[in-house]
Amino acid sequence: MTLLEWQDQFATENACQEYLFQQRWPTGFVCPQCQGKTFWTIQRSGRTAPLYECQACGHQASVTAGTVFHRTKVSLRVWFMAIFLIAVDKGGKSAMALSRELGLRYDTAWLLHHKIQQAMKDRNARYQLGGLVELDDAYFGGVSHGAGKRGRGTDQDPVVVGVSLNSQGHPRHIFLDAVPDLKKDTVLDVLERRVEHQGVWRSDGAPVYAAGAHAHEADHEVTLSDDPEAPVVFHWVNTVISLAKTFIDGTYHGRGRARRQLYLEEFVYRFNRRHMKTGIASRLLIACVESAAHPYGT
Ligand SMILES: [Zn+2]
Repeated sequence: MTLLEWQDQFATENACQEYLFQQRWPTGFVCPQCQGKTFWTIQRSGRTAPLYECQACGHQASVTAGTVFHRTKVSLRVWFMAIFLIAVDKGGKSAMALSRELGLRYDTAWLLHHKIQQAMKDRNARYQLGGLVELDDAYFGGVSHGAGKRGRGTDQDPVVVGVSLNSQGHPRHIFLDAVPDLKKDTVLDVLERRVEHQGVWRSDGAPVYAAGAHAHEADHEVTLSDDPEAPVVFHWVNTVISLAKTFIDGTYHGRGRARRQLYLEEFVYRFNRRHMKTGIASRLLIACVESAAHPYGT
């Protein structure tokens, strides 16, 4: 969808509310308490979306509950436009750019950006990598002071990285998880969430990947880092690490692992959809509708 088509479709607050209503109740209103089908519409003041009151039991339902728009003070038109701008910007849009383009206060733009990243994170959590998967870890962020691959600089987080490859050896999907440390339990927890059981794993043979492969009943192909073949075998995982570092450096200037992880989630969300030509903004909008409501700042 082009910017103009998006603006036309979501030209008014009503149109945005109607869209949310259709997403929530595609076959018509159904009361979440009693499954009643008839309702009154209760208009509320200002920009707040109306409530839908069940005529049978009096339960009041809202189209924004359970979405990133829950209890928002920002108009849905602005939200939907922010989602479009973030979705179509391949390099990742900063909260600063969003605030400029939408005429928002910086803290408002920051909050929208943050919640849209949360929706991307929720969407990423639904998928696991399968088949042939390259696994590695690297240090992200801060100043490295020349620290090597296994050495940690100040203000750096280790990040566990996975790339699944198709039969032509090209990347399909990725994950990146910033972790407090590379201890066995920490990394195994990431692998359990992010990688399907069975399949084939490739790693540099670090004990934690051997343990993970065993737990996942996966075949484990080991190529040591100093093997002349290593740059070829780990080409894609190295490329993804390098691209993700560029993305983070370009957009992320804060501190803390939680924030860093959200930018990694944005990078993953974009990378996994890099071949998509159409529908990018619509998909991100649906991800925002289906995202659990997160409290501020988490
Ligand atoms: Zn009811």
